[in-house]
Amino acid sequence: MDNLLFQVSQLIHRVSDEADPEKQIKLIVDSISSLFDVDVCSLYLLNEQHQPTLYATHGLQANKPISLQEGTGLVGKVINSKVLINVPNAAVEEGFQFLPETGENAFSSFCCVPLVKLGDSVGALVVQSIRCEKLPEQYEALLVTLAAQLAWIVPDVKQLKVVGKNNIRLPGAKGAPGVAVAEVYILSSSSLEQVQIGECADIKLELATWRELKTQTLFDLNEEKEQFRQASLDDSLIGLFDAYQLLLDDPALTQFIESAISEGADIPTAVKKSFLYFSDAFRAMEDPYLASRADDLIHLGNKILTAFNNQPSELSEIPNQPVILFGADISISEIAGFPDGLIAGIVCTDGSHLSHTAVLANALGIPAVLGIGRNVRVSSGELLVLDADNACVIQYPTKSICAEYRKIGQKLDREAEELKKLRDIPAVTLDGKRIHLMANSGLVNDITPSIESGAEGIGLYRTEIPFMTCQAFPNEAEQVTIYAKIFSAFQTEKVYMRLLDIGGDKQLPYYPITDEFNPALGWRGIRFGLDNAHILLTQIRAMLIAAGEGEQLHILIPMVSSKEQLIEFKKLLDEGLKQLTAEGVAVVAPKVGCMIEIPAAISQIPFWAQELDFVSIGSNDLSQYLLSVDRNNARVACLYDPLHPAVIHEIFRAVRLAQTSGLEVSLCGELASEPLSVVLLIGMGLTSLSLGAAYLPRIKKLVLSVDSKESESLLQEALLLHSADDIRHLLNEYMKKIGWE
Ligand code: PEP
Ligand code: MG
Repeated sequence: MDNLLFQVSQLIHRVSDEADPEKQIKLIVDSISSLFDVDVCSLYLLNEQHQPTLYATHGLQANKPISLQEGTGLVGKVINSKVLINVPNAAVEEGFQFLPETGENAFSSFCCVPLVKLGDSVGALVVQSIRCEKLPEQYEALLVTLAAQLAWIVPDVKQLKVVGKNNIRLPGAKGAPGVAVAEVYILSSSSLEQVQIGECADIKLELATWRELKTQTLFDLNEEKEQFRQASLDDSLIGLFDAYQLLLDDPALTQFIESAISEGADIPTAVKKSFLYFSDAFRAMEDPYLASRADDLIHLGNKILTAFNNQPSELSEIPNQPVILFGADISISEIAGFPDGLIAGIVCTDGSHLSHTAVLANALGIPAVLGIGRNVRVSSGELLVLDADNACVIQYPTKSICAEYRKIGQKLDREAEELKKLRDIPAVTLDGKRIHLMANSGLVNDITPSIESGAEGIGLYRTEIPFMTCQAFPNEAEQVTIYAKIFSAFQTEKVYMRLLDIGGDKQLPYYPITDEFNPALGWRGIRFGLDNAHILLTQIRAMLIAAGEGEQLHILIPMVSSKEQLIEFKKLLDEGLKQLTAEGVAVVAPKVGCMIEIPAAISQIPFWAQELDFVSIGSNDLSQYLLSVDRNNARVACLYDPLHPAVIHEIFRAVRLAQTSGLEVSLCGELASEPLSVVLLIGMGLTSLSLGAAYLPRIKKLVLSVDSKESESLLQEALLLHSADDIRHLLNEYMKKIGWE
């Protein structure tokens, strides 16, 4: 049974990795019939008319999909009721319907389990045998487990038998606004985890192949480094290739791999064993700098496997025109590491509109659609239409659809040009209330878009983003260089620099925190910072040095849940100021504030006020924790509603408490870029918002068209409503009234 469980999990991996939907469903039925030792395994999926349709079978005869009437036959019954049927003789069961053309009458036993996704049946798996006996209980349980997982990875029926089909709409979540029509660039690689232990047939030959592979990989790394140098990527990214080369050439690693092969392992097995062994050894080291090499080893191991499997490796070819990046969960470092100007759009099968991929795409003004589902298959080089404004991707677009979307793209560009005219106009409501609009930033690349958008400073500088694009924790001098660029770009404007906020969905490639069951509630933000005081002090010193004697620096503390954390941080800040003054560096005490993003922080604002100059409401995490909805989980994304009455009530409470405690208050979550929410935020009395540069001009246009008194009354009405839909309806009516599209 244990072995069977292992094989089932392997099957899930293989099915997930199969790119071709037709092959994928064939793989499912063939593998299950052999694993469960049954004569027939069939996969039924609901077609677009909602009819159970036999799309793949092992053991029956079917050359084309065969559909049943909705709800008919035992399969229809299982799909409708979502309750499995396991019987020794299907023919005597009420409602049984033969599909005579399939030769089904030869089989007696019948076990059918539904495939249920997000509460709805999407199809069913059927196993049948000539033997007149029920499927044994433990097999039945295993089939149920398998079906629960397959429901998430079986292809969308729209993708099956696609010949002649066009303009297939694949829904997802809007990550960042805009449209794109471009070829797909798949960011993928083989992974050490997927390797199945195997033996080699000829040790000598395997050793020779390994040595060739190593030489070739060293050569490829050099080539890639040169390509990246020519594409003017950040030095820190180029340096990564040197680090890989050094690791791969390490004698201890080479010896480990070669002994594994000499003992009979095949290359993937030897690579897996060695790289996992060394990465575990590095990870166990106490020094975070050394521990951070562990992930480099995993990346390098994956890279070698990718080359061995003859897949195009990550960024092996730099495209010569803008592409749509496609991947399961494209990391911030992958985006940051892609050559400037070559990303037309981003599509992820995982994630939601609040994941950091979306946050970064927004900052860079790249349209993005996330969470389109792992069952979607696209190929490298195929043309896609990305329509982020309608939260979907269009596969196999016809020429006319592409032309249509190119026109929409041009129209959006023209609108953006129009909005640029507002750049130097202050954001003032119709009744004269001044709203300060600042930009959210995290990369040096987004300074220019922020300035061009007319941002009045940086309301949230996410320092974890530059940390994510380095190969190790950046030292003080490296950080000073980065921060100084931000200060000088914004001259005298305020810059709210947030301390390193890693953990949860923001992982450093060189220091991943992956051993937590509940990372969103784990070692994050200031919790990590205070436990690694040396890293935090280096960052504080770097911020102070970069800010010099100017008054731009506002230090923002992430994920605060207690006053003690503020006090501990202040001690470190004092220490940094004292050290630098003693070293003769001219520094001044910065303004200090904290994020209000943990619900517990709200009621504490008055008690923390004496330690703080300002607070900034992080509506992304605040909503995540208030609603208990993981901001990156596509399965529950529909429960994440920024207009949920509880979110509105709590944000308003935070604003009032901050104001009555004499603290400056702003909001820097994605809510600040949603026109409907902004009307309410103005009504709450917020006069400072920080948002992605791509949204800023449009939000300024909105501020210029609303009356703050009307917003206040709308807020009062909204506070009496019990559902997000009602609040949305109320706001939409107002938007119509003011002529907002
Ligand atoms: C937030 O939580 O709202 C926020 C602005 O921080 P981040 O999105 O980086 O977690
Ligand atoms: Mg946050």
